[in-house]
Amino acid sequence: MVRYCLKSSFALVVASVLAACEPGPPQHGELTHTAARLQREALRDDRAWELVESLATEIGPRMAGSEGDRRAVEWARQRFLALQFDRVWLEHVSFPLWRRQSESAALVSPVNQPLAVTALGGSPGTGGPIRGEVVHFPDLAALEAAAPDSLEGKIAFISQRMQRTRDGLGYMAAVDKRSHGPFVAAEQGALALLIRSVGTDAEGPPHTGQMSTQRAGEPVPAAALSNADADRVEEMLAGGLPVVITLDLDCGFDGMGESRNVIGEFDGSGDTGGFVVVGAHLDSWDLGTGAVDDGSGVAITMAAARLVAELPERPRHGIRVVLFANEEQGVYGGKAYAAAHRSEWGRHVLAAESDLGAGRIWSFRTRTAADAQPAVQQLADLLAPLDIAWDAERPAFGGADLSQMRRLGVPVVDLQQDASRYFDVHHSASDTLAAVDPADLRQNVAAWATLIYWAASSDVALGPIAPTH
Ligand SMILES: [Zn+2]
Repeated sequence: MVRYCLKSSFALVVASVLAACEPGPPQHGELTHTAARLQREALRDDRAWELVESLATEIGPRMAGSEGDRRAVEWARQRFLALQFDRVWLEHVSFPLWRRQSESAALVSPVNQPLAVTALGGSPGTGGPIRGEVVHFPDLAALEAAAPDSLEGKIAFISQRMQRTRDGLGYMAAVDKRSHGPFVAAEQGALALLIRSVGTDAEGPPHTGQMSTQRAGEPVPAAALSNADADRVEEMLAGGLPVVITLDLDCGFDGMGESRNVIGEFDGSGDTGGFVVVGAHLDSWDLGTGAVDDGSGVAITMAAARLVAELPERPRHGIRVVLFANEEQGVYGGKAYAAAHRSEWGRHVLAAESDLGAGRIWSFRTRTAADAQPAVQQLADLLAPLDIAWDAERPAFGGADLSQMRRLGVPVVDLQQDASRYFDVHHSASDTLAAVDPADLRQNVAAWATLIYWAASSDVALGPIAPTH
């Protein structure tokens, strides 16, 4: 009996020594102190700017499956290595390859004048110039309600305008016409579809973007007009004269394409097996240089992870940065990541994606286990010095690429960027470095470094969360 007790107290001592060796979570004061240090360093660190500048100017457009995309993958691998991530690897992603060769449109009645136009992702080509009278619909619902056969030989035009909002929700309200319009126009017998660009600028170039990849049926050739040209067409239609347009789109699917998710990882100081996942998407549309969408997210997450890894003592959990392939044309990289890592989803301590440009972060949302609320309050306290408020009203979305992981139960956080100007340039030729403010970028890095440090240091289980869709 005595012997047993001795043995069991010895085991207890060994266990507590081992526990002492295992780094515990930092105490509140240390957490605050280290977060403040990270924020100070981030606010004078231009590494994120150097990364986005390099990606935008040396690689530029990198549409999924293109030569630019292949160069971007190698760029990302090299940058992870240069930032001394402990492990860097690539994971294969494949998808239907869509190419844009050329595109043009012009008014031929009531006047002759070229129009600024760009094909929507996924659009078939027109097979040479096509010509048709324009029929105006204020929104997608009006096109859905069109009289049968009324669009035979005609070009449908949806003029709905996107509203500018700080939280970017105006996009969600306006994007339906791009996602579903080409299929609805086909069902209604139209020759082609033109939409007003899903963008908030008044004078800029047209905005592209993907049509639905989920919807059954064959879409008609579909393109977006610049906002200024959409105004012009609307004015002519309001005048009552027939408006006739020619449209010539050389684009379409061409077999399968491939790319890579590029992943860099820092080890934690503990043996927890867990890691915090932060990400962004590496691909962009082909019209600009993708400095904003999503070069900024790439730069912010890489720079923030590096900053945390440079602390004198690393947090307990590891940090994984995933740069996703082909988000733009159907979240193929996100789906491939979820498929490859499904069995280890429980090791994902927290996931978050930066994919709303480069505007300052003004609020954050979470989707965590209910009993993690005190820990989330701690995060709110750490982010407050950066003028970031906790929006406890709405749960976090987690980003398009991480939505599959969220559905498996991985807790997510959204650091909400100010999206007021994001949709002026989004998916257009105006998405260049000129639209990125270095000071805003630094504030983003400060917030992301804080989030990563908080989650990677925590011994509170932030998940699993209830399955959602
Ligand atoms: Zn994006």
